[in-house]
Amino acid sequence: MQLSRIQFLFTFVISLMISLVIHNPIGATPLNPTAMVDIRSINPNIALDIRYATPNNFVKQKLYPEARCILRAAVAQQLSKVQSDLETRGLGLKVYDCYRPLAIQRALWKIKPDDRFVANPKYGSRHNRGAAVDLTLIDRKTGKELPMPTGFDDFSERASRSYNALPQNVRQNRQTLEDAMVKAGFIPLATEWWHFDGKGWQNYAIRDIPFNAISSTPLNNSTPK
Ligand SMILES: [Zn+2]
Repeated sequence: MQLSRIQFLFTFVISLMISLVIHNPIGATPLNPTAMVDIRSINPNIALDIRYATPNNFVKQKLYPEARCILRAAVAQQLSKVQSDLETRGLGLKVYDCYRPLAIQRALWKIKPDDRFVANPKYGSRHNRGAAVDLTLIDRKTGKELPMPTGFDDFSERASRSYNALPQNVRQNRQTLEDAMVKAGFIPLATEWWHFDGKGWQNYAIRDIPFNAISSTPLNNSTPK
């Protein structure tokens, strides 16, 4: 009796060890979900048009030193799932904005100190947490953006998700994006068709890590919350 219990325990421990090895075959450390990662290191198929790295934005100034989409690892992985899902329908994502260091939020506020357009750096923007993403849909074959209600950072009521005086195909495109994002756990912002927050976004702290301090290859447990 005693022996069979030991045998059982032994078999259990061995099976557990085998299972761990199978599920982690190369011994890779799983990504810390709060680590800041470059979306290119998670899914290079996601297209980038990082507007604040160009003067093509509502303040007409280049504010980001690099055109990079940096997100918390858990959020980047969520986004990668959306991309894979859309690809099965010939569509893809094009990202306009991701993580924004707090120092850049201050610079933006200096240019436009109006909380109708810019989040006050005293409280921070959702983008300062690395859990928010601004994006649209593209046709994977042509790379062209699908028609949406407005351009990026249009502050009119036409940008609101409840605005429906739009052509049928535009409403459909907005809905396709929203459905794909919601399915992966993202939360849509009511006033901006392009803005989504990752699940549990409130739990990620506001950060001020500059872009050049964030690796373009996956990080393992190197960024604390
Ligand atoms: Zn946004």
